[in-house]
Amino acid sequence: MTHDRARCHGCGLTLPATRLVPRCPAARDDDDIDHVLRPQLGALPDVATIDAGELNPFIAYRELLLVTRLQADDDAARLETLRRLDRAIEQASGRGFRRTPLGRQPALARALALDVELWIKDETAGVGGSHKARHLMGLLLHQYMSRGTSASSPASRPRLAIASCGNAALAAATLAHAVRWPLSVFVPPDAAPDILAHLRRLGADIQLCPRERDLPGDPCVRAFAEAVDQGALPFTVQGPFNGLCTDGGQTLAYELVDQLAHEPGAPALDLLFVQVGGGALACSVYDGLRHALAAGLGNLRRLPRICVVQPERAHPLVRAYEQFAVDVGDRVGPAAQAPRDPRARADWLRSDAIRPITRALLGEISRARGRYMRAWRPAPTSLARGILDDETYDWYGVLTGMLETGGFPLLARESTLTRARDAGREHVETTIPVSYTGAAGLAGLLTAHERGLLRAGERAGVLFTGGGS
Ligand SMILES: [Zn+2]
Repeated sequence: MTHDRARCHGCGLTLPATRLVPRCPAARDDDDIDHVLRPQLGALPDVATIDAGELNPFIAYRELLLVTRLQADDDAARLETLRRLDRAIEQASGRGFRRTPLGRQPALARALALDVELWIKDETAGVGGSHKARHLMGLLLHQYMSRGTSASSPASRPRLAIASCGNAALAAATLAHAVRWPLSVFVPPDAAPDILAHLRRLGADIQLCPRERDLPGDPCVRAFAEAVDQGALPFTVQGPFNGLCTDGGQTLAYELVDQLAHEPGAPALDLLFVQVGGGALACSVYDGLRHALAAGLGNLRRLPRICVVQPERAHPLVRAYEQFAVDVGDRVGPAAQAPRDPRARADWLRSDAIRPITRALLGEISRARGRYMRAWRPAPTSLARGILDDETYDWYGVLTGMLETGGFPLLARESTLTRARDAGREHVETTIPVSYTGAAGLAGLLTAHERGLLRAGERAGVLFTGGGS
């Protein structure tokens, strides 16, 4: 659609939607600029035309996603493609894309002595058992929506590539298998044997990447990047390589807003707790909520505070937030001190007096990546293995989301991660048992409660992002 585009929040390069690519063409490894292409929608749709009965989010919200808007001028052909793809995914994996369950959880809140109204969205019901497939659909749909019928020809399909040994790899292999695209998965030698066996059953080409003593960084990501340089498509949930991953991920936010609007009294969330590893989930949720607010989806009036949760043992994004708050304080000078309480400090950072400084600094730091985002050393360990990324790839978008919504960061102890997972498994009926990573948002809520950062009666949302160990 006219004015639809993607803009790199690092260098400012802007591409019209018709020339969309996954990675910023100006990206370099050594310029300290955070190159990530972020989707920007031009004219927003009349949300009254959204079919509330349509359960496939990529169909229901096709006017709110950059990649599906590419075929807006031929809705019949677009619908035919979307339905055909979903049938293939459902036939191959037993599950197509359907709205995932959202429910109030009073028993869980009582069991954890929480005096908030708790809502949980169950992403274990998603394709591949997690939220990851939503993100990957951004790139896949771009192939079908921009290449049209040529994407249907196996001979013209470029190889897909991903570096992961967890839910993202399973989601990638599930989708690639369903649509018969070749996929290479780059994994460490100690990847879980059951996951490797599952990936092989799905036809993925597995590439083992041992750590090389003299080279810094993740060897799987390095091998993946080499494959992309040689022409593979970055089928990954990392914004710097694949900006389209936040486009597909926005479906989660649209569903959340729509589902709440159809509950009695149309409740609005005060806080939303989101676990952060690479950051694409939290970034997508923020972008989706912003677009929903702008379009008037579900009569949304304000955004919830987006509170991010990382394990105490590995928290590169929380470190970046703390650095940012210190830098704002330095610019403000001794005249006004930042409050120590995290929630009060978040409000201070977006107060009328301080917001201009916060925004000015935000405008600068995407060109000073190294000051804020560095690989976590030593290599992190935690029960929440799915959010152990040594860098938060989409840190800038998540940081912006926190600062604009008054969200604050939380560090979850290992014991709290265990409590959250165990209580989640006991009190919430999910499609598959929630994992430590999947319940880490709840661990953040528990941490906020223990630290006195919640108000009685507030509405809090939590995403159960996936199952497994
Ligand atoms: Zn750029």
